[in-house]
This record gives sequence, C-alpha cells and structure tokens, in this order.
Amino acid sequence: MIPRYRPLATYSLLLAAATGSWLAWELAQAADFPALWIAALCVGFNLFVFQFGIPTPWVGLTSMERLPQIGLLLVFSPPVAAIICAVASLLWPMLNRGYSQGSLTVAWIRAVHNAAMTALMLLAGGYAYLAAGGRHPLDGFGAADLLPLAAMALAAQAVNVASMALFYKFDRRDVRALIKPVYSVMDLIFVPAGVLAAVLYNARDPATFALFVALMVVFVLSFSGIGRVLTAEDAERSPLARLFKAGGALHGARRMDELGERILAEMRPLFRFDEFYLVLVDREERALDFRVHEVRGERQPAARAPIHEGLFGWVVETGDPLLVSDWPRAPAQLRERALDTGKETGSVMAVPLHHAGAVAGLLSVQHTEPGIYSKADLNLLQRLAEHVAGAIADARAFEDLEDYRLRLEERVAERTAELEQAGRDKERLIAALREQSSALERESREDALTGLANRRHFLQRLAAEFEVAQAVGQPLTLAIADLDRFKVVNDRLGHTVGDEALKRSAALMRELCRDTDLVARIGGEEFAMILPGMPLGTAAEFCERIRRAIEQHEWRFVHPQLRVTVSIGVWQWDGRADSTALMEAADAQLYRAKRDGRNRVA
Ligand code: GH3
Ligand code: MG
Ligand code: MG
Repeated sequence: MIPRYRPLATYSLLLAAATGSWLAWELAQAADFPALWIAALCVGFNLFVFQFGIPTPWVGLTSMERLPQIGLLLVFSPPVAAIICAVASLLWPMLNRGYSQGSLTVAWIRAVHNAAMTALMLLAGGYAYLAAGGRHPLDGFGAADLLPLAAMALAAQAVNVASMALFYKFDRRDVRALIKPVYSVMDLIFVPAGVLAAVLYNARDPATFALFVALMVVFVLSFSGIGRVLTAEDAERSPLARLFKAGGALHGARRMDELGERILAEMRPLFRFDEFYLVLVDREERALDFRVHEVRGERQPAARAPIHEGLFGWVVETGDPLLVSDWPRAPAQLRERALDTGKETGSVMAVPLHHAGAVAGLLSVQHTEPGIYSKADLNLLQRLAEHVAGAIADARAFEDLEDYRLRLEERVAERTAELEQAGRDKERLIAALREQSSALERESREDALTGLANRRHFLQRLAAEFEVAQAVGQPLTLAIADLDRFKVVNDRLGHTVGDEALKRSAALMRELCRDTDLVARIGGEEFAMILPGMPLGTAAEFCERIRRAIEQHEWRFVHPQLRVTVSIGVWQWDGRADSTALMEAADAQLYRAKRDGRNRVA
C-alpha cells in the first residue's frame, strides 16, 4: 500500500477491530437474529437508500440511511441491527466506483471504515436508547418515548460525526469544509420515519407495513430527484465547479497568468504540495514554458526548457499521467529521465492537459514527503486537468492574438518611423542633388564673370537653332561683337576695371536682346548673339543699337578715363552653310568693322 493511505488504513482497521470485538461479544448473546432472507432484505433496503437517498456531495454520506438504521434498532437488538447495517456499508464502496474515486485502495479502506463506523453508531445508539429507558421492541409511540429516541439519534449522530472527522483528518482533507452542521441536521430529520417503520413492523400487521414500505420507496425515489438538484447546487460550490467557473470568468479576463493564479488557488484545498507547476507546450519553439511555478508558497521566475527534457518532457511525449508516490523507488527509466535538480523529491503527480488531440501543457504537484498522492488523487487531478485544458486553450489563443496584435503594432510603428526617416533622408538627398546638379548645369552653361551663356552652351544652342531654322524655314542671324582695343583698357586701367567693363557690356547686350535671343561670351572680350527669326537688316539695326548703348554708357562711374566701344559683325545664314561657316562669315564681317575703323557694325 502506498504510504499516503497508511494512517487512514490504520485508523480504519483499529476502528474495525474495536467495534468488531464489541459486536462479536454482543452478537454471541443476541437471541433475536432474524431469518436470513429478512436480514438480506434489510441489507438490500439499506443499499437502496444509499443509491437513491439524498446524497451529500463530497462527504459521501447518505442522510436517509437513518431511516433503516433507526427502524432496525427499534425492531432488533442493537448487535443484530448493527450487523445488518454494517454489511450494507461494507458492500457499498465495492458497488459504487464513484464513491471510491475509482481506486481499489480507497474502496476497501472506506468499506472497512464505514462498516465499523456504522456498527459502532448502531451499538451506541441502541444502548443509549435502552439506557434512557426506551421500550424494545417499540410497538407504539407516546411522549415517554421521545427522550430515549432522542438519546438514540444523538448518540448515533455523535459517533457518525466523530468517526468521519477522524477519517478526513487521516485522509489529510479539510475537515471543516467537509463536515458541516447542516449535514448532521439533515441526518436527524429521517429519524421519525425510522421510528414509524419500526412501530408498524412491530405491530405485526404485514399489509400496513408493506403499504408503508411502498410509500417509503416512492418517497425515497422522489427525494432522490430533489437530491440531484441539491447536489448540482452544492457541486457548484465545489472546488471543481469553482475552477470551472474561474475558467469561465477567464474567458472575460483572457489572461494566462490570471488563469494560472486561479488554478493554483483551486488546487490548494484539494492537494497537499510544496511545489506546483503549470507548464505550457510551445510547439513552435519546441519548448516547455513554465508559466506558474511555485515552491513552498514562493513564486519562481518564468523559465523554459527543451520540449522533451526531464519528467515533464516524458509526460508531454507520452501524453500519460504520472504518479510517483516514492521517488527514490520510482522505476529506473523514470529516474533516468529526470533532471538532477539537487532538490529532495518524495511524491510527484503530473497530468497532461489534452486539447484538440495534442498535449497543450501539464499540471504537476510535488511534495518532499513520499506517499502523499494516491490513484484517487491522480483521478481528481485528471478531472481537474480536463476543465483546465479548455480554459487554457482559450486563454492561449487570446494571448497569441494579443501578441500578434502587439507585434504588428510594433512593426507598423517601426516601419512608419523608418519610412519617415527614409522620406526625410530622401528629401535631403534630393535637395542636395538638385542643388549640386543645378550648380553643375549652371557651371556647364554659364560664363562665371558675366553670367552669360558660355562658348559650349552657345555652340549647342547654335546647332539647335540651325535645326529649327531648317525645319520652319525661318531666318537665322548671328552677330559677333568684340570690344575695341581692350588690351589697352587692361594695360592702362587694370584688370579689375577691364572685368567691370566686360560685365557691364554683357549686361547691356542682354538687356537689349529679346528673350528668344541668346547672348554668349565666346572669348575674352568677344561675344556672340544668336538672333533667330531676325532678318539681316533688322539685325544690323539692332546691333547698331547695341553699339550705341555701349559707346554711350556712363563708363566714368567705373573709371574716369574709361571709354568702351564695340565692333560687331553680323551675318544671316543662307540656308545652306553649316554653323562653322556662318561663324566664319560673321567673324569676317567683324574683321571688316575693325578694319574700317572700329566702333561700328558691319
Ligand atoms: P582689337 O580692337 O583689335 O580687338 O584690340 P584688342 O586689344 O581688343 O585685341 P587683343 O586681341 O589684342 O586683345 C584682347 C585683350 O583682351 C587681351 C586681354 O588683355 C583682354 N582680355 C581678354 N580676356 C579678359 C578678361 O577676362 N578680363 C580682362 N580684364 N581682360 C581680358
Ligand atoms: Mg578680341
Ligand atoms: Mg578687341
């Protein structure tokens, strides 16, 4: 036998030995033993009441058992009544698996204990009745019978409550939670029915007695219905139901941690443990996720382990529950699986949480003492695990969703920040590039001193204007201007004055040109003007205006001795020659102007 049941079994056997000897001694002197079939019927009625009487949940007592017990006590002598009822109590745990929590050990302990307790109750009740002067057998009822009957009922009740309290104490259960005054009161209300049954039986009127028994059967069966309702209500207050409700409540809370707290709180009154684990299986990461781990009331930090590591790995792998009542004597292959944590272990229970055909996690309780857990405890833990698994699956699904939502939010935030930064970088880059390219473009097209188009730009534009002129058949006229004796200006007045003269001459030419014309500085003091669509005559007049503007400009503001004049050669394209030929022709005209005395247009 596993050590957990040693105190309980010892207590039950001691009780049975004591009661048994008393009973045997009394039975030896009892002269009223009934026919065997009557005794069997009485046992049967007891079992009928166990089955259909009002069950009191968790306690396992069937309150209506006072009916046959009191009845038999008032018909037969106490040892005969005791032996009949004891036999029924002995049989009951063997017949009812639920009552014995599916464990054979629990079944025989309860059988021995209950039979002994029942016999002791009846002996105590019967002799208390006789001692109080009760009539036996009772064949009528009067006020004088009240006191002895009360003595009988209370003596039996006292023995019942005391022995059950001891039973739960040795079973390491919460005695106060299990034995409540209300159950004792409920036991007593069936005493009068027992008295009536005895009076009718003793009156030797079989028809009336049969009528009463029939009435009782109907009565018991209808009470059984009420009993089921009461059981359902009571079950709602039971730890399992509370846990189930906690799971339900968590559908609202949807937090795994909170569910863990609740499970732990509900486990405490049900099992003794100094270590508790709620472990979840993380299939993606192939890990065991220790969600709740408590050691001697102290919460341990969250931890993870490889999915198949240790005893828990074994539970997850096999999907089987694990019950070890004495760890040092556990099977070798189990002990080999366990990690050497260095801590002392006596008893271990671990049950898988099955959900959707897979092991979603496990619940485990452990104790340093050996023999703490029985098969019945494992059954209870498994039932609990069924309730927990569903609630955990819901909570996990919600957590996953919540995680996903948070990750998504983070990613969106990150991406937004990245995009914003990239946007700013891009804008900065574009501005820099634009600035750089426009500077380059300016540099590539402009003459730095005068701001006019440079020679390169002039040649490009001239080629383009050639194409336009060719395409639309417009006149294209080119003028080349050269400042007169500019070397002298430089030599006499200095380069700075020369530069200023160049800038002002350039400005004057640009002022007078149309938007469609292009003025370029093509050499040191040499300029070119492309005059698209301007016939030669008009161009000559236009160049004359430029010549005059330069000559008449107030050069003295630059330098008192500064005089600037310009010679301009102008030529219209004949529609055949190329740009070089046109330039040469314009140049030849410029040369003519110079030769003819400068400061003129040719
Ligand atoms: P002509 O009337 O025959 O054209 O006589 P010129 O002195 O103008 O002709 P030349 O070709 O002999 O001299 C051109 C002078 O222009 C030489 C140089 O001193 C001056 N010059 C050329 N580029 C610049 C410039 O960028 N700045 C200044 N200040 N002077 C320049
Ligand atoms: Mg020149
Ligand atoms: Mg010159």
